[in-house]
Amino acid sequence: MPQRLTGKTVAVVGSGPAGMAAAQQLTRAGHTVAVYERDDRLGGLLRYGIPDFKMEKQHVDFRIEQMEAEGTRFYPSTAIGEDISWDSLRESYDAVVVATGAMVPRDLPIPGRGLDGVHFAMEYLVQSNKATAGDAVEDQLHAEGKHVIVLGGGDTGADCIGTAHRHGAASVTTLAIGAQPPQERPENQPWPVDPKIFEITSADEEGGERRYLASTVEFLGDEEGRVRALKVAETQYNEDGSRTPMDGTEHEIPADLVLLALGFTGPEQDTLSEQLGTGFDRRGALDRGEDYMTDVDGVFSVGDAGRGASLVVWAIAEGRAVAKEVDSYLEGESRLPAPVKPSDHGISLSA
Ligand SMILES: Cc1cc2nc3c(=O)[nH]c(=O)nc-3n(C[C@H](O)[C@H](O)[C@H](O)COP(=O)(O)OP(=O)(O)OC[C@H]3O[C@@H](n4cnc5c(N)ncnc54)[C@H](O)[C@@H]3O)c2cc1C
Repeated sequence: MPQRLTGKTVAVVGSGPAGMAAAQQLTRAGHTVAVYERDDRLGGLLRYGIPDFKMEKQHVDFRIEQMEAEGTRFYPSTAIGEDISWDSLRESYDAVVVATGAMVPRDLPIPGRGLDGVHFAMEYLVQSNKATAGDAVEDQLHAEGKHVIVLGGGDTGADCIGTAHRHGAASVTTLAIGAQPPQERPENQPWPVDPKIFEITSADEEGGERRYLASTVEFLGDEEGRVRALKVAETQYNEDGSRTPMDGTEHEIPADLVLLALGFTGPEQDTLSEQLGTGFDRRGALDRGEDYMTDVDGVFSVGDAGRGASLVVWAIAEGRAVAKEVDSYLEGESRLPAPVKPSDHGISLSA
């Protein structure tokens, strides 16, 4: 508990690692902090994105209990922009921190995309995480006995692979459109650049096949509208650097469940821009200055919402840093530490 309450109020929207880190610091600085979360449970992607086999939820629960004991208030199942408008939230609080993540998934709008069995990775992972938490999930997307194809990679793809294996999938294949990265740091990516090299995640170690230079050109369905295969061609690199499917190389890969793990294009923009008038940068993230403030006075953005889809370490570091900026905005000065600035982002750990 803080020794002195400032009498200032802060709303934090989103309970992922960025929002939680900001809320904890701001509560400790003596402000009255309310965290609003759209989901029924708190934790953001730590709760419903990352599976239990990679991060047990007891760690998130422990932090929530600690923060409640310190005085942070939590309002789950409350969507800002719908249940409470952004502008009325801004009017009700002395400052607002937007920590809503960057969860608009990148799609693959090719023929057959509407077939049953072709889903965004997060649809699959959220349902699986809810089931693991003990919820009854009606018509749960399940991989048992299925040939699963994961399109794309990264942490999201790896979590799909691990979950599908635990569901008892018949096979799990990851398709990447690009070439297999080199095993060692290439000469054109010297230290301290974070090199793009071939990675084997713990999910890959558990099994599954990885195919490279695989351009998916169509999802093929059966007469009931369910996906049955992917039509895939070899990727061709053109002189201008573009990639196209190579003519004459098309072949079919059987599939019962296809999971799109192609990354995220940024935060949801509609209600924020309509109700609050916030701007977005060319990457689709919320426009903000070095002090994390958006172009609306007293409204700050942090974590994936402000930097685009990234990593938990960045979300926590930014959450702690934005707390200092909000504290300074409210009090004129702040004793909180400031680990990072938005301009630090290109230096290392970029993701
Ligand atoms: C499947 C998956 C696996 C990952 N694995 C790793 C990993 O292994 N290591 C790693 O470092 N990073 C990983 N990441 C990335 C990491 O999870 C994110 O970078 C991090 O969670 C971002 O934190 P955040 O607080 O900015 O946003 P989020 O964690 O996305 O939280 C945002 C929260 O805001 C809520 N919200 C959104 N809009 C509203 C609204 N209008 N009103 C109320 N609430 C709202 C959302 O429901 C959500 O709970 C992974 C990401 C995914 C998708």
